[in-house]
Amino acid sequence: MVPGLLLVISGPSGAGKGTLCQALREEMPEIVYSISATTRQPRPGEADGKNYYFVDKEKFQEMIAAGAFLEWALVYDNFYGTPRRPVEEALAAGKDIILEIDTQGAAQIKKSFPEGVFIFILPPSLAELEQRIRKRGTETAEVVARRLQAARAEIAALHNYDYVIVNDKVEEAVKRLKAIIIAEKCRPQRLNLKLEG
Ligand code: 5GP
Repeated sequence: MVPGLLLVISGPSGAGKGTLCQALREEMPEIVYSISATTRQPRPGEADGKNYYFVDKEKFQEMIAAGAFLEWALVYDNFYGTPRRPVEEALAAGKDIILEIDTQGAAQIKKSFPEGVFIFILPPSLAELEQRIRKRGTETAEVVARRLQAARAEIAALHNYDYVIVNDKVEEAVKRLKAIIIAEKCRPQRLNLKLEG
């Protein structure tokens, strides 16, 4: 069987990763989405087990000790981690899976899964990014400033990625994301072709 694609999507907060993944979900419903565990508080409308597994620090530490994470990182004072089992199961079953994680986590995944596809989502500009973060309205001024600073640091890591998508218009960006996934599936090394005989 051909193993599934491990797709890693990163990009600064406000680049529109969530919107893009939501739109992709509608067009490619067969793709599995990894649900991360986090110690941050749920935002309004977020549900446990859907957006994240919301856990406290002790539980998170226990999960680290048990080797339950494929990667984990401290992002803006909160811990985030990718539960290992669902990813390994999806890939073994030939399903594609998307991890929406930060650049630190992506670097860890690249070590254990060099065959993963690493995609970076960029906002059209830093000014646009600031506007998007402010518009979200759930963050304080201090958090907005820190997120912008973190965004600059994240963007500096984009050269470690295989693809960059500038998220100017969601429909266009989704088209490019789909094109990447389709093209990656055509790589000979992924097809397990048995041509001999
Ligand atoms: P947010 O709190 O806005 O949902 O996410 C903050 C940042 O944490 C985003 O850059 C997001 O991609 C990242 N993130 C979410 N889940 C994980 C994870 O499991 N691992 C890592 N390393 N980063 C994550």
